[in-house]
Amino acid sequence: MKQREGGRHIAEPGQIDTTHGPILYLENVTVSFDGFKALDDINLYLDDGELRCIIGPNGAGKTTLMDVITGKTRPDTGAVFLGNTLDLTAMREHEIVNAGIGRKFQKPTVFTQHTVFANLELASQGGKGVWSTLFAKLSGAERDQIESVADTIGLRDRLPTMAGSLSHGEKQWLEIGMLLMQDPRLLLVDEPVAGMTHQEVERTAELLTGLAGTHTVVVVEHDMEFVRLIARKVTVLHEGRVLAEGSMDRVQQDPRVVEVYLGT
Ligand code: ADP
Ligand code: MG
Repeated sequence: MKQREGGRHIAEPGQIDTTHGPILYLENVTVSFDGFKALDDINLYLDDGELRCIIGPNGAGKTTLMDVITGKTRPDTGAVFLGNTLDLTAMREHEIVNAGIGRKFQKPTVFTQHTVFANLELASQGGKGVWSTLFAKLSGAERDQIESVADTIGLRDRLPTMAGSLSHGEKQWLEIGMLLMQDPRLLLVDEPVAGMTHQEVERTAELLTGLAGTHTVVVVEHDMEFVRLIARKVTVLHEGRVLAEGSMDRVQQDPRVVEVYLGT
């Protein structure tokens, strides 16, 4: 752990202490917007390496939850910890990224005028800027990492392809690959299969389930067919609260869940 001037600890990837329990804790987290509680006393615990699906109707608080984890929104009350020691409410967004949390937004934001290879390369440099990285010499290790990530996301054959000419699904995978270049421990993925073909949906399911284990993966998703494909443990949010949690079968049979979400 690095120490900075203020004496605050900053984590580096791989320094998340999970020896005594979950990788992520949210306890009694409340977020209010003008008195309206987008999150209302939420508790959430994620085990290291698990794949968690978070579902719930529009306005349930799913995006706000991701915003709290990534430091974009500060909770009014409650605790948010990465491992045992890292208080995410005291860290800036880029510090949270550096600590090992990567977030993929719904819309892909790849550099369309660059190749798949260059996109992965740029992602690994973490914002040093396009030009310095494109002309810098790549080490063998960096090249290996790019190829290994390209394998993982199924785009090894597409490395020389311009990102702009990839299919929608391939762009989404590339963006997941760009997150993987940062070597995150926790991946937050917002509606990964929106707009994908059936085949792309299946490949995305394989990709995300394959990442679990070596990563903790949180998927926010509306597409229930997709959730059924990948689900282990599911958390159902409703009106800023955890309505139900458990296996897909269990939450699907919960009458409250049927009433507010699955039944509609
Ligand atoms: P979800 O992602 O599950 O659809 P959100 O987390 O986006 O839900 O929103 C939860 C609730 O909080 C919604 O009622 C939304 O209108 C409200 N909300 C979210 N962000 C803001 C904000 N910045 N200002 C005011 N209200 C907000
Ligand atoms: Mg949302």
